[in-house]
Amino acid sequence: MPARILNGNQIRDEIYGELRGEIERLRAAGIQPGLATVLAGENPASKIYVSSKIAACEQLGLVSWRHTPPASVTTDELLALVADLNLNNDVDGILVQLPLPPQVDSKRVLEAVHPSKDVDGFHPMSLGLLVTGRPGLVACTPSGVMEILRRSGIPIEGANAVVAGRSDIVGKPMALLLMHANATVTICHSKTRDLPGVIRGADIVIAAMGRAGMIAADWIRPGATVIDVGTNSITDPALAERLFANFPERLAKFREKGKTLVGDVHPDAVNVAGAITPVPGGVGPLTIAMLMSNTVKAARLRRGENPRKATSNNPAGRAAASLANS
Ligand code: NAP
Repeated sequence: MPARILNGNQIRDEIYGELRGEIERLRAAGIQPGLATVLAGENPASKIYVSSKIAACEQLGLVSWRHTPPASVTTDELLALVADLNLNNDVDGILVQLPLPPQVDSKRVLEAVHPSKDVDGFHPMSLGLLVTGRPGLVACTPSGVMEILRRSGIPIEGANAVVAGRSDIVGKPMALLLMHANATVTICHSKTRDLPGVIRGADIVIAAMGRAGMIAADWIRPGATVIDVGTNSITDPALAERLFANFPERLAKFREKGKTLVGDVHPDAVNVAGAITPVPGGVGPLTIAMLMSNTVKAARLRRGENPRKATSNNPAGRAAASLANS
């Protein structure tokens, strides 16, 4: 029997519905949460990402500002911009879109964002709060994965969870969130011995390697939950034929467009897993939803609202409260 499809668009819409209520409540209290975006240069993919984030703000009634310094911007100029945004009390969240131009010291710029406005959760202080289980702003993609698991009723406590990938922005925070939720977590990377064997022991597989279709269907334990974070654009017809041999419609679409997006998990895994996220339409929509949620959470935390008191149907509050209580 094919796996249950965990639909990221549906879960995002559910979260947006809850956030609208929370934003309304804050507005009634005279608070209008706002997100400032910084997009340096002309990277076309970055422009699309930032536009989607601004569109989500507009959809939810959050204030947004778009800063677009030129590709020639220096580290010092970006540091000055971030310092201004840190001081601006109307700004609750600062999003610096990566990658920054090559001459810019990205780490210095990201670390200049005040931790209370670090809605991407990339600041070492945010990561430290996560490690120690205290309320803070958590990286959007891993917290989106937790929303998918929780809202889909996937049991996490006591489960064997394998996270394939150990980046600072996905793999590491993902492993910490699962550990705080009482899973037994194994983290894999490019030097892991017998990756298929490790993954076969997982009740929950989180794939975040950036390797198109690498996790084969027979690496998945029958009935396991598979969350595919990987987002890989493929253009190689031979690879597309290998991945979509059993999915003629997807192969036909690939042939029409000459490219498509695939995850890190082979599409055949849908016939083995118990539940699986599609690519696209799985984890992706949750990343922007959690950025919105983090902006609302930052607006509350900056004004000293205790996340434990946050309304139970609000994802930003629930995430903070579950960490604070863990
Ligand atoms: P990254 O920084 O490149 O990290 C990749 C990780 O995977 C590294 O830890 C690497 O191991 C590991 N890895 C690579 N090849 C491997 C292999 N053959 N076997 C085992 N481990 C391997 O990537 P990232 O930023 O975390 O992103 C991962 C994927 O998620 C990408 O496809 C990205 O596009 C996608 N993504 C999606 C979203 C979304 O919203 N849907 C958001 C963020 C990222 P080492 O540490 O040993 O090098």
